[in-house]
Amino acid sequence: MFIAIRVAAFSLCFLLVACAQEAADEPTATAETPTAAVTGSGVDAAAADAGAALAAAADAGAAHAGIDNRGSSADSAKWWQALPRAEWAGFTRVDTSHPWFEVYEIRQGIYAIYEPGQFEEVISWLILGGEQALLFDTGLGIGNIRGVVKALTELPLTVLNSHGHYDHVGGNYQFNSIIGRNLPYSKKKAMGQPHESVAEFASDDWIWKQHPPNFDPATYRIKPYQFSSWIDEGEFLDLGGVSLEVFRAPGHAPDGIVLVDHKRRLMFTGDVFYPAPLYAHLEGSSVEEYAHTAERLATMAADVDDLLPSHNVPVAGSDYLRQMDAAFKAIIAGTASYDISDGAREYPFQGFSVLTLDPPVTALAEMEQP
Ligand SMILES: [Zn+2]
Repeated sequence: MFIAIRVAAFSLCFLLVACAQEAADEPTATAETPTAAVTGSGVDAAAADAGAALAAAADAGAAHAGIDNRGSSADSAKWWQALPRAEWAGFTRVDTSHPWFEVYEIRQGIYAIYEPGQFEEVISWLILGGEQALLFDTGLGIGNIRGVVKALTELPLTVLNSHGHYDHVGGNYQFNSIIGRNLPYSKKKAMGQPHESVAEFASDDWIWKQHPPNFDPATYRIKPYQFSSWIDEGEFLDLGGVSLEVFRAPGHAPDGIVLVDHKRRLMFTGDVFYPAPLYAHLEGSSVEEYAHTAERLATMAADVDDLLPSHNVPVAGSDYLRQMDAAFKAIIAGTASYDISDGAREYPFQGFSVLTLDPPVTALAEMEQP
């Protein structure tokens, strides 16, 4: 049984904040402090500091674990020389006067907000309905993604994240209407991540493009944010003529989700699938859960035509869902070949690969240990 929900409209309080910020090229500290209008987890400052320290300890050394490129030029010191990727050429680029971002209209009212200036090449998705807009991820927090969104729509907007990793929640602090998963992992991520845990991602090895003038790599961090409501499996986001169903999709991250637009036969896959190395080796990743997710999504491959992923390229064919299922089955069965790279296993498949720890941690492997 599905629950129909409607995204809450902006509060007057939020509109006041929005007006104050409208002229600013880069977000101000104002938006970092949640207003009283926001309801939800109620993270206090002390808890946020403690959480940030925990997050730093957890993320140090775990992020990327030496595998630091999702792209095809992983061994190149100048990975950006492979850009632009040809897959973007067929889509209309939209100028938003925020040059850190490249924005493309991928379908009518569906915008890819792409950050090719940083190694992750992350993509946030703006989806417009007749009455509401949804921002599926907020990127790195380097540029003013709220300014981008405001240039594209005046509709009331809500943020939802594909999962809590830094490159998908970096701009969350710029928004007050954020729906999330009611999970300890998500709440911990909402406490932010200190500079020490993300400094590398703002270094010269990771950023080639001129960053916005108000951005300082020396102080880059993931600022805390607060959820205003919760969402889970089987719920629909009704944007007015556009409806998106939420599916749990753990494996890459514990709080992973995908969204399906049944009418337009589209799946927003987050980091669950993109045609590049899939990360099943991070802290919070689970090869077994990833395999279950892949098996489940493969059953939906006939119901969608295109996957809209969160890294590198805007569109991939839905047959990849079946291939991903087969890939994880082969990994778990021990029949897939792999290379060792920086201490992790990389299993190559057609059009993508899967990174796991060496050996992959699955329930079966744990049972076999003495
Ligand atoms: Zn991720």
